[in-house]
Amino acid sequence: MRPTDLQVIGDELAVKWDDGSESFVRLDWLRRRCPCAGCQGERDVMGNLYKGPERKLGPAAFQLVRFVPVGGYAVQLVWGDGHQTGLYAFDYLRRLAEAAPPDPQPQRPDKAT
Ligand SMILES: [Zn+2]
Repeated sequence: MRPTDLQVIGDELAVKWDDGSESFVRLDWLRRRCPCAGCQGERDVMGNLYKGPERKLGPAAFQLVRFVPVGGYAVQLVWGDGHQTGLYAFDYLRRLAEAAPPDPQPQRPDKAT
């Protein structure tokens, strides 16, 4: 599964997949699950996790500045705070999209009754 089109719409990343389906993934959800070693930590051969101190993410951290396709298997996301070491493999992106919590329902004034 790979994306055929990526687009930032509001605070979501819209992904068109090559099976014709579409995902909308919130940018903050994506950023908090940045797969890079700096964000997720690194395991040594013994399985110990090394992780830097939790960084505080400001609003810029959740702005997607651009995305760069990498080697036909992933996309590199460049964030407003300059963070850009996260390579989101397509299957990871897909899993994130499927695991994302649904948006809070916007309040609709009324439904036809
Ligand atoms: Zn990261």
